[in-house]
Amino acid sequence: MHVAGLLRRKGDDVATVASSATIGEVVAALADRGVGALVVSDDGRVVDGIVSERDVTRGLAAHGSALLDHDVASIMTRDVVTCDMSTTVDELSALMTEGRMRHVPVVVDGALCGIVSIGDVVKAYIRDLEQEKQTLHEYISQGR
Ligand code: AMP
Repeated sequence: MHVAGLLRRKGDDVATVASSATIGEVVAALADRGVGALVVSDDGRVVDGIVSERDVTRGLAAHGSALLDHDVASIMTRDVVTCDMSTTVDELSALMTEGRMRHVPVVVDGALCGIVSIGDVVKAYIRDLEQEKQTLHEYISQGR
């Protein structure tokens, strides 16, 4: 399974935020959208950074509630690991494990066109296992 297949199932919606947004606005958007990370992008196309719940937690530990008035640019990760439509689920899994990150934006020709999370990767593995189980059941019970 490739990223293209994952996006066909989950859609290409990406929760983004402008780099000038405050961290208070980031917290509100994370809660409203029910996601764990936002792609930081001023034009909704080019990935300028990524900010996750973990960045907010670290920032709060360092600065307390004053953090909420800071710009997202002060805590976002700028060096973003991305993938494209042909990246496999196994490759994503390796990227996430090695980079200790749970979100990977999908970029094609320099433009943001989706995001995959560790939850999407786990769901894909479970679907594969279910299919394999079904095939084995049929093989054993019907001899085909
Ligand atoms: P996460 O596991 O996604 O909550 O993120 C953990 C840390 O990795 C945070 O500091 C994020 O800003 C950073 N991070 C998340 N996704 C990416 C990514 N695709 N590329 C680089 N850093 C990331």
